[in-house]
Amino acid sequence: MLAEDVRRYYLETMDIQVWQAREQQVEDITNVSAPGDVIWQQLEQAVSSCTKCELHTSRTQTVFGTGNKNAELLIIGEAPGRDEDVQGEPFVGRAGQLLNAMLAAIGFEREQVYIANILKCRPPNNRDPKPEEADACAPWLQQQIGLVQPEVILALGRIAAHNLLNTDQSLAALRGKQYNYAGFPLIVSYHPAYLLRKPVEKRKSWQDLKRVKSLLNSYGSPT
Ligand code: SF4
Repeated sequence: MLAEDVRRYYLETMDIQVWQAREQQVEDITNVSAPGDVIWQQLEQAVSSCTKCELHTSRTQTVFGTGNKNAELLIIGEAPGRDEDVQGEPFVGRAGQLLNAMLAAIGFEREQVYIANILKCRPPNNRDPKPEEADACAPWLQQQIGLVQPEVILALGRIAAHNLLNTDQSLAALRGKQYNYAGFPLIVSYHPAYLLRKPVEKRKSWQDLKRVKSLLNSYGSPT
């Protein structure tokens, strides 16, 4: 748990008043063998040379994922943007800083969670992923989820929620509930990039984060 003053700083960064406390085959990923460095290295190497969709022609590099490979909390976003494509890491830049603040507000440092995206390669001009691209890329993420074995998955944004839950409902309709993704509890919330454009929604995001924290606490996680 972070010191209270640090926690207060991050909550204020999020504009939270401190006083207020498509058809996709989901593979069986709950029985993947124990994670090991070799498995992760092989997976990352395979992703780095992937040509399963057209996005491999325009990427600077693949953006595999980052963080604690035994994390309790797995964050899943949309796809690499310009900064991520250059740096090779998900959620960098302003949206990444806000994600870090969101995580800190529930007692996590970025390095304690695992962060990945629906797509490993940047769509040109940051357009939405095409269904065929998301389908082609899904097995990579499924393997990551199976290796991490998180206690909770937090899907950030419409694209992540739609692809993981195979739905086209609005994010507003998807929020506030608990889902099951291949046996893993899943919560939906706003993407930090959206929150930067619409800060008034940060309050709802905080409600979602508290739900995540409560769920983790129910498993005895030290948050
Ligand atoms: Fe492969 Fe995914 Fe990149 Fe497409 S987006 S080339 S499926 S790693």
